[in-house]
Amino acid sequence: MLFANAISDNRNVRSQMFNNQQSIKNVPSNTQEIPGYLQLYQTPPGENISLTEFDEIAMERLKLLKNFENCKDSHPMHTEEFKNKFRKTCDKIKLIVFPDLKPTSSEDIAELWRRDNIGHFILRLAFCRTPENQKWLTQIEGDLLRFRLRQEREVVVDSSLSAVNFPIHKLSSEEKKEMEEDLEHACQVLSIDMKNKAFYKVDFIDAIELIRRGSVHLKKGFAYFPFEDLVTILVSKMKNTTMAAMARAFKHLAILEEEGRLLPRLARLSNNAYSGKDYNGEQADGSIIITRHMIDKLAVRSFAPCMKQMHKNLRLNHHLKYGARRQYGLFLKGIGLSLEEAIAMMRDEFTKKIPSDKFDKEYSYNIRYMYGKEGRRVPQTAMSCATIILNNPPSATDCHGCPFRHSEKQVLKQKLSGESILKKDQVELIVDLAESNQYDKACTRYFEFTHHLEEGGLGQRITHPNQYYEESQKIIAERIAAKHTSDSQTSQKSEPKEEQMDTQ
Ligand code: SF4
Repeated sequence: MLFANAISDNRNVRSQMFNNQQSIKNVPSNTQEIPGYLQLYQTPPGENISLTEFDEIAMERLKLLKNFENCKDSHPMHTEEFKNKFRKTCDKIKLIVFPDLKPTSSEDIAELWRRDNIGHFILRLAFCRTPENQKWLTQIEGDLLRFRLRQEREVVVDSSLSAVNFPIHKLSSEEKKEMEEDLEHACQVLSIDMKNKAFYKVDFIDAIELIRRGSVHLKKGFAYFPFEDLVTILVSKMKNTTMAAMARAFKHLAILEEEGRLLPRLARLSNNAYSGKDYNGEQADGSIIITRHMIDKLAVRSFAPCMKQMHKNLRLNHHLKYGARRQYGLFLKGIGLSLEEAIAMMRDEFTKKIPSDKFDKEYSYNIRYMYGKEGRRVPQTAMSCATIILNNPPSATDCHGCPFRHSEKQVLKQKLSGESILKKDQVELIVDLAESNQYDKACTRYFEFTHHLEEGGLGQRITHPNQYYEESQKIIAERIAAKHTSDSQTSQKSEPKEEQMDTQ
């Protein structure tokens, strides 16, 4: 398919890989034996793949990245807890993340490397269209690469350096001896023992991150550092090239004649990064019927800030503008509010300001349209955070959008400080995250703090207002169930005493 032709002219990588597999499991001896990630994804895949495989590989990689992100949110990377949790999620994913989980057959290994490379490049295309998406993918791919490189043996990383397209020189023992004094000083700064350590040299421009940290020895325009810092250099190189490649890809997407096949797939992928689930109301738990009279209570306890904001506005002004009617209306449909209840709820409010027939003429059609009862008759799904954040930004008089993305810093701070449940340092943390464009993280921390969970306690990131609602309801239900159990245990304990007293 065109995807492969569009991004590469190297068509022989895979066949060469398969012809040369003798030493794949050990140390690679030439470029074709080095998997894409060890080459910092410099060579795009050069083969034709079917659309089915395209979809499968792309979703698989997205799933891997999301799992990785969730684990990272709960535990610091490289800790045993993190590894155990992440290892469990990797079971069914066809990628080699842990070297000890490599398949035994070299053909299988080559196939997994192939999927790894293709998956990475598909996501580059899918995520190149907005700065937020570019940033998210670069960051998470960079972290994943860091994690994988740290799992690799030193000798494997070393032997792959020849395939990395920028000069890194490993010091020979003579060179190391000549610079012993300088390097020893650098080691003291890093508190590491210089003995048996390999040292490397790069142009200082490629070591900016280490220079910023002050953990590198500089001499005549070159930076010298031990193996520990090599991973930092490689990851930063990969992130820079990925960002640059995505900016180039974005320009070329417009002239790619793939409106019918590739572009919708790529759009779906970047939306899916934020939600793997379509909230269209069908998944709502049928055992609990949501009525309009329950919404006020639910809003306080379980609505994400974006939805709370629109609900408050509706109650206050008895009106919502088009953007808010769609964002909030689809959310309510997603949590299970029926069409009749949705119309009744909006009518109750709107008719405080306008006559009922005006409401029926101008507003009820749109609600029925969202439920698939008018127009194309296709029920619509609730908007994910990505859609809310990236599309249709609110004007000053609108109340839709995402407060973490669309509110000024001071306004956001004020809004959060008004919530008595949040402590001052928690407000600061959320505002800082929003300021650094980490809206999903800001929302996740908000969820955790307002649900009395510790940081990372949710174990996943908020990527959809309906996911926020569902997770909140789950926690509340679990707490109620736990309270019932403990209450009944307490009363059971007290019963024998009463019996005893009766018999006395
Ligand atoms: Fe709503 Fe998503 Fe923004 Fe949270 S991050 S407030 S759920 S749009």
